[in-house]
Amino acid sequence: MTIVTRFAPSPTGTLHVGNIRTALNNWLLARRHGGRFLLRIDDTDAERSREEHVHAIRADLAWLGLDYDDEQRQSARFAIYQAAMDRLIADGRVYRCYETQAELDLRRKVLLSRGLPPIYDRAALNLTEADHAARAAAGEAPHWRFLLDHDTPITWDDGIRGPQTFDPRTMSDPVVRRADGSWLYMLPSVIDDIAMGVTDVLRGEDHVSNTATQVQMFQALNNHRGADPMPRFAHAALLTGTEGKLSKRLRSLGVAELRESGIEPEALIALLARLGTSDPIDPALDADHLAAAFDLSRFGRAPARFDELELERVNAGVIHRLPFARVADRLPAGMDEPTWLTIRPNLSRVSEAADWWQVIKGPIAPPDFDSETRDFLTEAAACAATIDWSQDPWSALTAMLKDRTGRKGKPLFLPLRQALTGMDHGPDMKALLPLIGRDEALARLRT
Ligand code: GLU
Repeated sequence: MTIVTRFAPSPTGTLHVGNIRTALNNWLLARRHGGRFLLRIDDTDAERSREEHVHAIRADLAWLGLDYDDEQRQSARFAIYQAAMDRLIADGRVYRCYETQAELDLRRKVLLSRGLPPIYDRAALNLTEADHAARAAAGEAPHWRFLLDHDTPITWDDGIRGPQTFDPRTMSDPVVRRADGSWLYMLPSVIDDIAMGVTDVLRGEDHVSNTATQVQMFQALNNHRGADPMPRFAHAALLTGTEGKLSKRLRSLGVAELRESGIEPEALIALLARLGTSDPIDPALDADHLAAAFDLSRFGRAPARFDELELERVNAGVIHRLPFARVADRLPAGMDEPTWLTIRPNLSRVSEAADWWQVIKGPIAPPDFDSETRDFLTEAAACAATIDWSQDPWSALTAMLKDRTGRKGKPLFLPLRQALTGMDHGPDMKALLPLIGRDEALARLRT
């Protein structure tokens, strides 16, 4: 059987790291098995869904390299949901209700004050056809609830959490459609998962109770299709920030911000693919290698910590391996492959290549040196003219100068850096000096 997974974001905002992790895990699972990965835009909520977010979601997935085999939109599928709903109505699995939010809140409070679970009491099941007709005549439209089967315990074998059991009698019949005709997330998602042949639903732990409800929706809808199997479910432990909670920052941290701060997609993928698993994070592994090793049994149940400092480290590791072709269009004009390969190990962001280029090519603006420093630099120029430039000229130059002048540490290094780069801080001189080259270095030391 071909594995089919889906990523189903609601375009009510942009993707944050938690969503990206869900998308990635579904992509990896599908790629691991040579299956299909679908993008499903869950835009049933017309009021909160925005086209700009749909564009951003596509752009983010493209940047991450998470290619999908098909894209579907729930807003284009309302007729399909209606047809499924009609079958559920005929089967008595959805029913009309009229309670207002205030009424429901009050009933919930009463139950809680008696120490009872705040479950919907199914009062609307007692309404007669005459009651419904009277409501309709008064211009009142119903909302619809899915009737849970209280006699069938809900079970599934979760790919991460193991065997799960829920007692439907402890759950409220979920509202599936509002009085204004709009769809809530639960039912359309199940209808789509069946229609699109989704074999594996991999999502965050915050969906576990939804799954309990949806298991019965699958069963109710599959009654019409013979013995279609349910998808496998797996719920990954949620991400937490370094402080151990699902921080506000994590809930808003998205691709745009990470990209602008110089994070490479490969780094985000290398980190997210291994978060919450027992496998080490390896910046050397590309997505295909990560997919080959993807295994749900490696996921733990403890919350997975997302550490931005760790992302920085992985990012540096990725940059130190990035081939010239991957970055050429982001490098300063004229920077060639040998220069990139030389500076690459010193970068933690690709944009830092520009600092190096400025220093290599000049012009630079050294500070005004006092006469003692000028004498030192004159000595430095003399040394620079005699050392071997074919290997590590910086070590040769500083060793010789230390010998001749007795300087060491900052008084030795700082004036050299200032004269050669015009800056007090910057790229590693050992890597930089060969790129500046002998003639240019001599000229800089002499002025
Ligand atoms: N649109 C839902 C969400 O973003 C999809 C959940 C799912 O079924 O994966 O939470």
